[in-house]
Amino acid sequence: MKSRFSLNLGKPFGIKVSVHWTFSLLIAWIVFISVSRGLGFEQIIMHILFILAIFGCVLLHELGHSLTAIKLGGKVQSITLLPIGGMANITEMPDKPKDEFIISAAGPLVNVVIAAVIWLYLSLVSPLDLGDLAYDMITRQNFLVMLLAANLFIVAFNLIPAFPMDGGRLFRSALSIKMSKLKATSIAKDIGQIFAIVFIFAGFFYNPFLIVIGFVIFLGAKGEYEMVKYHDILNNYTVKDIVKTDYEELDENESLGTAAEKLAHISTSGFVITSDGKYSGILTKNDLIRGLNNYGKEGQIKDAMGDPAEKVTAGMALFDVFKKMQMKRDDMVPVEENGKFTGVIDLEGINEFFMIQKAIR
Ligand SMILES: [Zn+2]
Repeated sequence: MKSRFSLNLGKPFGIKVSVHWTFSLLIAWIVFISVSRGLGFEQIIMHILFILAIFGCVLLHELGHSLTAIKLGGKVQSITLLPIGGMANITEMPDKPKDEFIISAAGPLVNVVIAAVIWLYLSLVSPLDLGDLAYDMITRQNFLVMLLAANLFIVAFNLIPAFPMDGGRLFRSALSIKMSKLKATSIAKDIGQIFAIVFIFAGFFYNPFLIVIGFVIFLGAKGEYEMVKYHDILNNYTVKDIVKTDYEELDENESLGTAAEKLAHISTSGFVITSDGKYSGILTKNDLIRGLNNYGKEGQIKDAMGDPAEKVTAGMALFDVFKKMQMKRDDMVPVEENGKFTGVIDLEGINEFFMIQKAIR
């Protein structure tokens, strides 16, 4: 999620935490519903506080996943809070099924602990009155009981055995002990998609929100399976195996118009840019379009070149580089070997390579 659409909350444990802007729509919706129900000021404040409290619990849930992943040798870049829940961007995940199981379980476990703490507190202060749950309104009296219920709901919801929910990962990692990750993911994907279809159907009769969740699950299952398929094939290769050496070259002092003219007659994700005949950077198709918008046809290539991408060397694992390029939306990156530029790789080329290797198998 791009940070310019998000509100930064800080960087606990080195993890960037932000709230997506659509979250403000959720707050606006709650105010709207409360006002249209004729509720007073205090009631509306209670409802907003309740939503904030739930998202505090969602944040702790994501921190549960993240800190466990870090402890097991993974890397976590950021956590984004969306109206439909939290999302931890774990950039490096330990590959062992057991580790995936522990990391996936850590999130829901946090909510179990929160629920238990609230329950303990309530049972010390006053006898737990389940009658409070019946109200569809948050009050000072039932706030904590409702928060307890919300945490149990988060646990139940996340244990649905479908991607991208934690249950999908728990299920897959349990299966992975007995079979290959690809096979396990394939089974988890099928079961997840059955759930998704049931959700979508139920959504038409009960709650339209279920339709949204159904689609998220359906696409999440498909995406996860695709990723594992890519991993399964690309993991056998390094960047060197597909580095392109017959790239298109342009000088950095040439105009963007020249690049646009050239692009009209050939098919490439970008150009290799030289300065005095030596490699100086990459101009991707997106860089070119952005450059034309900013400087027009007369603008120079050197002003439009993108930021130098992270160093990619010929010996790097192809799948890792592919994942990084996808995440950063880098269409084309330069490749070096022994500190010298040797060629480029692009997403289109990797996709082609994947398709061909899949067909050969
Ligand atoms: Zn989770």
